Amino acid sequence: MVRQRNAKYKTMLNLIFFGPPGVGKGTQAAKVAKHYNLVHISTGDILRAEIKLETELGLKVKDIIASGELVPDELLIEILESTCDKHNGANGFIFDGFPRTLRQAEALDEMMDRRSWKVTKVISLEVPEDELLSRLVNRALEQGRTDDTADVIRNRLVVYLKHTEPLIDYYRKQDIFIEVPGMGTIEDVFASLCGVIDNRY
Ligand code: ADP
Repeated sequence: MVRQRNAKYKTMLNLIFFGPPGVGKGTQAAKVAKHYNLVHISTGDILRAEIKLETELGLKVKDIIASGELVPDELLIEILESTCDKHNGANGFIFDGFPRTLRQAEALDEMMDRRSWKVTKVISLEVPEDELLSRLVNRALEQGRTDDTADVIRNRLVVYLKHTEPLIDYYRKQDIFIEVPGMGTIEDVFASLCGVIDNRY
């Protein structure tokens, strides 16, 4: 049993894509997930789907998301746990948009421990702030997301700095935090990410 668990540690690739709104996490996470056959879990996408379907959860989170604030940790932790349960036996996961708070990071570690899994790497995409803002404004024009208006974008960046950026220290202490430049074409960034991921052992 113990040996099996250790074997799983080595083969499973569990990545957290980290960084502020607009950094390109979602685009790259989808490409990397496809390339390495991983399950891509975007908590933002999950929540937006719930809103669209007008589920009980969707109704609960709609206004919070539109204001750029964070959805309560307990809801996110529950969503994450049940999504992972649905994909038992996966090669690994990419967590995109989760964890966003220390409480979520600790809950993820506990959840991983219970399954004898672990986070392989936390990959932080690095993009200058003026580029972030212009990407978010463009996305607002293209996709019409309710949380991509100027005021809400500003608030999401403030929320990121306050609640999410402190996680850098949490993962640096575990020695799994790695920064990757997020500028350049989508293919350039993807190539850098593959380079980092392939060197994981
Ligand atoms: P972006 O990629 O632009 O940062 P997301 O699509 O990941 O945005 O998330 C959109 C919104 O959904 C967030 O601003 C927040 O309100 C909510 N949300 C998503 N993931 C989480 C999370 N892990 N904890 C709390 N709220 C979340």
